[in-house]
Amino acid sequence: MSRALVLNASFEPLCVVSTRRALVLVLDDKAELLHAGDGAFHSQRASYPEPSVVRLSYYVKVPYRARIALNRRAVFARDGHRCQYCGAAAENIDHVIPRSRGGPHTWENVVAACRPCNSRKQDRFLEDSGMKLRRPPCAPRQRSWILVATGSVRPDWAPYLGVTDSLSA
Ligand SMILES: [Zn+2]
Repeated sequence: MSRALVLNASFEPLCVVSTRRALVLVLDDKAELLHAGDGAFHSQRASYPEPSVVRLSYYVKVPYRARIALNRRAVFARDGHRCQYCGAAAENIDHVIPRSRGGPHTWENVVAACRPCNSRKQDRFLEDSGMKLRRPPCAPRQRSWILVATGSVRPDWAPYLGVTDSLSA
């Protein structure tokens, strides 16, 4: 199914929806069409270009917590699918401060890890494990990471996501 990028009134990427849903937003005057795709929707009386990028005509306040969803896919994307302890291909999610020791499930405490490192660290604090992180984990600053992590990025979305060509390929 074709998808369209929805921008906030501020041009900040908000979410990805079906092109049909994006068209409804445009027809309801809730969004303006910025870029059209190759396809078209036909009604009895008219045909409409298939939206690729639309911009909301009103500003949606995004709660801070909802901005960047923490999930396995997004963590893997942030960490380049590499174990943050040894650089091998990551298979697991590791809590730097173990959950059993009160470690939170937050961007700052979650890293991608390979299976050997994950089991080697066990329920120990980082200092006690003798292991080192390649870089301190932090929340991705841009929603573009999440959009990249969720799937394909259409070429005309790239300018709004701030992604490089290599990421959008
Ligand atoms: Zn590892």
